[in-house]
Amino acid sequence: MKDKDCIFCKIAGGEIPSKTIYEDEEFRVILDLGPAAKGHALILPKDHFANLYELPDETASRVMLLAKRMAAQITDKLQCDGFNLVQNNGEVAGQTVFHFHMHLIPRYKDDGQKIAWQPGKPSQEELEEIRNQIVGN
Ligand code: AMP
Ligand code: ZN
Repeated sequence: MKDKDCIFCKIAGGEIPSKTIYEDEEFRVILDLGPAAKGHALILPKDHFANLYELPDETASRVMLLAKRMAAQITDKLQCDGFNLVQNNGEVAGQTVFHFHMHLIPRYKDDGQKIAWQPGKPSQEELEEIRNQIVGN
């Protein structure tokens, strides 16, 4: 299942060249062209899924196993000091390419990057209401 207008389908399928650091039948892992830090990579499924909501369960579980393996390899080879996994869904959440991808972001002391949000200050009542909305009771 490819989308003919999707750049990540073309990269994952090898039609557009990329700096590939891992490939198997289901995934390609490439270096991000606009890295947050040295070694920032993206896991791309070869099939087209727009986002997490569309991702089949089996693919989702294999993405996490691959993320874990790649994080270990990148950490070992680049000697980074920490690691972020980031995965954006929807424009409002920062997604710019609408083909599921998992960011693998090595972090270095003093790399000057931030993956951050402004923490809110909900009351216990507000948290309880949200909990009820989510779990439906
Ligand atoms: P997101 O904002 O989560 O959709 O992430 C899209 C990511 O894809 C960004 O980090 C871009 O730098 C990266 N990107 C976009 N086009 C390419 C490309 N042709 N090759 C490698 N990375 C890309
Ligand atoms: Zn695609």
